[in-house]
Amino acid sequence: MESQIHKIHQQLVSKEISCTKLVQQRLDLLKSNTHNTVNSLLDTLALELAAKVDAKIENGEEIGLLEGIPFGIKDVYMVQGTYTTASSDLLKKYKSSYTATAIQKLFDAGAIPLVKENCDSFGHGSSSENTIFGAVKNAFNTELVAGGSSGGSAVNVAKDYTVFSIGGDTGGSVRQPAGYNKIYGLKPTYGRISRFGLMAYASSTDCVGPIAKSIEDIRIVLNIMSGKDIKDQTTYQSKKISKESILKSDEIKTIGYFKNFIENDAIDAQVKSDFLASIEKIKAKGIAIKELDFFESDTLVSTYYTLAMAETASNLSRLDGTNYGNRIEGSSLKDTYSVTRSDNFSEETKRRIVGGNQVLSQGFSDDIYLKGLNIRDQISENFEKDFKEVDIILSPVTPNSPPKIGDSLKDPLAMYLSDAYTVGFSLGQLPTITVPQGTETGLQITAAKNNDELVLKFANFLKDTI
Ligand code: GLN
Repeated sequence: MESQIHKIHQQLVSKEISCTKLVQQRLDLLKSNTHNTVNSLLDTLALELAAKVDAKIENGEEIGLLEGIPFGIKDVYMVQGTYTTASSDLLKKYKSSYTATAIQKLFDAGAIPLVKENCDSFGHGSSSENTIFGAVKNAFNTELVAGGSSGGSAVNVAKDYTVFSIGGDTGGSVRQPAGYNKIYGLKPTYGRISRFGLMAYASSTDCVGPIAKSIEDIRIVLNIMSGKDIKDQTTYQSKKISKESILKSDEIKTIGYFKNFIENDAIDAQVKSDFLASIEKIKAKGIAIKELDFFESDTLVSTYYTLAMAETASNLSRLDGTNYGNRIEGSSLKDTYSVTRSDNFSEETKRRIVGGNQVLSQGFSDDIYLKGLNIRDQISENFEKDFKEVDIILSPVTPNSPPKIGDSLKDPLAMYLSDAYTVGFSLGQLPTITVPQGTETGLQITAAKNNDELVLKFANFLKDTI
């Protein structure tokens, strides 16, 4: 698909459509949608900003490429003065007192926020059913889940309710719903975009990620949001990726894929044959293909969940009804903490807090947490070794097609295992994108750390190859 940002920019500049009309149309679509994508609409702010853009155009002033472009924000980002609920009872009434760096950069570029989007509570989930706002329904089949945790963001883009949306990806939450709804979703290299103002889930893998219908739109939004931020010490300065640079892919000579991801009982037969057919098409273009060895999916999933649960248990300990959250008074201070947290966190979030505290507790942490960290180091070393031999690693996004609404809630372990192909790249902090091609839930393109440009190049190459 062509760039929606460029197209709408032209329509605004040529006065084919006014910004107010554009924004109003999208707000109406969001308001009447039955996919449960909306936690709150930012209609007053959006229309105010749209009127300013229209006034500029009327005055003959130039507008920037993102000026007047309507977008969505997963409801885990701080936007000053708006409800930021993380789709939870605990923060149902919480309003942000400041704005996340990544979102502020989009505001500074003139993009217009329409909506805080439904997602799994605190990012905990792979289906966007763990939410107080109702399960998000898949853009193509309303009986299926939208994927998660950034399900509302993916569906809004797929249905053209927003031009692009900003999701968050800790272990696949941008890539997997992008795959389930047949659009693009990028998890950049960890640290390329500031996490300041993104509600912390697992701080060592949390990434800000754009979701859009074209690679060009992903590139534009990525460039705006990237950069060093003194409020997030893990950020680094990166070079802008130019439009021209991602059109050339001749430096990509070798593609690798993990044999054990594909030769595995857990993978759906159709996903497997579609993936192997994609590999053949790439080979036919003269690119070398290399089979790689990797950790078993079970090891990746258990290492990820061990560390993610430990980090989220620690991060969420601040939500006790004192500084934040819907306080419920108990018989004593301790009881107040206990009732507030028991009644306001979801089953899934409580499972993770209990699991995470177990992982971190005295007597267990050496055996579980430190072992998890050790395996994570081995995973990173494995990636370093692989990227000496291949330019890109290609994989399916998920082993199976999207489940029916209700199924993941019945079987959390099956849900965790559905993350088998995304979590390893998160632990490695690598740049990785979902493209809506190759298998029913797309393909995942991964490159070495800081090589986000190569990921976009190969995505462009695949667009014309399969
Ligand atoms: N599904 C994974 C989890 O529940 C990833 C979620 C995410 O990336 N926020 O942890």
